[in-house]
Amino acid sequence: MANSYSICVVPGDGIGSEVTGCARRMLDSLATMPDGPSFSFNEQPAGYGAWIEFGTSIPQPTVDAAKAADAVMLGACDVARIPAGAGEPLGTLRKELVVNASVRPARSVPGISKGTQSIDCLVVREVTEGLYSGIEYDAGPDAACAVRLITRGASTRAAKVAFEQARMRRKRVTAVHKIGALKLTDGLFLECVRAVGADYPDVELETANVDACAMHMVQHPEQFDVILATNVFGDILSDLAIGLAAGLGLAPSACVGDRWGYFEPVHGTAPDIAGKGIANPCATILSAAMMLRHLGETKAADAVEAAVLQVLKDGKVRTGDIGGAATSAQMTDAIIAAIHAGGRGA
Ligand code: ATP
Repeated sequence: MANSYSICVVPGDGIGSEVTGCARRMLDSLATMPDGPSFSFNEQPAGYGAWIEFGTSIPQPTVDAAKAADAVMLGACDVARIPAGAGEPLGTLRKELVVNASVRPARSVPGISKGTQSIDCLVVREVTEGLYSGIEYDAGPDAACAVRLITRGASTRAAKVAFEQARMRRKRVTAVHKIGALKLTDGLFLECVRAVGADYPDVELETANVDACAMHMVQHPEQFDVILATNVFGDILSDLAIGLAAGLGLAPSACVGDRWGYFEPVHGTAPDIAGKGIANPCATILSAAMMLRHLGETKAADAVEAAVLQVLKDGKVRTGDIGGAATSAQMTDAIIAAIHAGGRGA
């Protein structure tokens, strides 16, 4: 019998509602596949718009609905415009849903990627601490400090995600650090990574300085499988990987903990194109595919990923960011048609 899931949808700001709307339409279409899953959606506010409407960027009912759902699908939140003291939607969700690591795959797409070498890697980024831990203070009239918090718990959980992912891929983890400059914090991070790695003898572990890693990613991207990094290093390296692969419009992500998981495109609110109906929906649709995989709907996840790739390869229906003139709705229609044509295109 086909499975049914409840999904909490947090569209957020800017193009968030447009791209999550496209992903919802794709998910709804799966119910007509043999044994295809069906979904009920509970849409909840968060972000800058939520702050304007409710006085907080992350209302409690949103957190409650996220915890009650089988999975959470996020659009994008305009965090830059949310004033101090108005809540942190992403930080709060990560804390409440107990997720420490963001998984960001980056894979070259023939006909779209510009580099000469192909890349097929996955960046696992710790997302709750490091230099983005939010601990900042004035240190006298002419100085300010940010604390780079690294804990054994969060580093260990992120490392486990990386080794688990590597096990399902090419069995290689590159742990990124700057141990020469950050002896204590990256010392602890690497200690945790090595301890976790001891439980995965089938996965090769190498370590790399962040600067050298960035250069090697540009020169020899094909060498990388899973890249594991602390918050800031992972933020930068995942964008680098995405840039080398196929760009922001095609970059999905997943934040999965022991109990909860949320799925969102890597891109932001794209205010320059918001409301025009031209945002590339692929990053959110591919995030929904990661959600399907997380829910155990492997067949549907494979079908969605194959359909997106097929439409991109066909090249007839593409949004502006990847060289076409299609609207978000037209690209979504083409992907849905390809899913139901068994990945053979519309
Ligand atoms: P934010 O402050 O929310 O991060 P931003 O505009 O600074 O917003 P992004 O939203 O990541 O950052 O966008 C960076 C650029 O990429 C923008 O020019 C935007 O239009 C483009 N872009 C991002 N996502 C998409 C998308 N899904 N489709 C097409 N273009 C996109």
